[in-house]
Amino acid sequence: MNIRFLGAHNFETHNSRFVCLLIDDMLAMDAGDLTSSLSLEAQQQLKAILLTHQHYDHIRDVPSIAVNLFFQGSTINMYSSKATYDTISGHLLNGKVYPKFLELPETNPTVKFIILEPYKPLQIEDYSVLAVPVNHNDSAFGYQITSPDGKTLFYTGDTGTGLAGCWQHISPQLLIIEVTAPDRYQDFAQATGHLTPCLLKKELTGFRELKGYLPAVFLVHMNPRLEKEIEAEIEVVAKVLNTPITLGHEGMQLHL
Ligand SMILES: [Zn+2]
Ligand SMILES: [Zn+2]
Repeated sequence: MNIRFLGAHNFETHNSRFVCLLIDDMLAMDAGDLTSSLSLEAQQQLKAILLTHQHYDHIRDVPSIAVNLFFQGSTINMYSSKATYDTISGHLLNGKVYPKFLELPETNPTVKFIILEPYKPLQIEDYSVLAVPVNHNDSAFGYQITSPDGKTLFYTGDTGTGLAGCWQHISPQLLIIEVTAPDRYQDFAQATGHLTPCLLKKELTGFRELKGYLPAVFLVHMNPRLEKEIEAEIEVVAKVLNTPITLGHEGMQLHL
């Protein structure tokens, strides 16, 4: 599996982009920054988009990918919870903000939406996909993706603490998880369903106790303004846990 970080942050600036990961050029996870990172040809190669939840920084490019594919005569499958589907169909692709690409063109609509059930494995293209609830809003999913050659990653999307239940369902070799802010924002993080380095440490400790190992850990959703502080605190966490933890960045590519 080839994993490209198209966006790795929760704010957008000239050099930081909203969260979006691309697997083998065909499967996107979240669509915070999809169209501005991909050529029209690359957009046409996309087969599916998995959305973790309906917050703006994760769905921002859904309308733009839809309009681009509409004019290319292509289609795309999108997968998410019912709540995310409701937000996109009711508030974005609703005929007011943007055309109803879930219904247009009538013969073969550009966007085909598939509502996912948690814990129910699904085959998407050549990949086995499992949607696992995380603790962010009432309907956020993380996704475990397994390639045909048995390589497995888990992407949490946005999540707060209390992931023990989630860990029970997954066994990834690679974990892409969020850390939004440094430890001095712990109260904010807990109130809004996000992680700080210290909170991540507890979750990873829980993972190791339950599963007997730690996967390779990469971070996304960092606040660019606070990234240096996050990085310094993560370095300490990595030392304590004796495992590498890497901050993701735009343009990063991993091979699994
Ligand atoms: Zn969110
Ligand atoms: Zn977010």
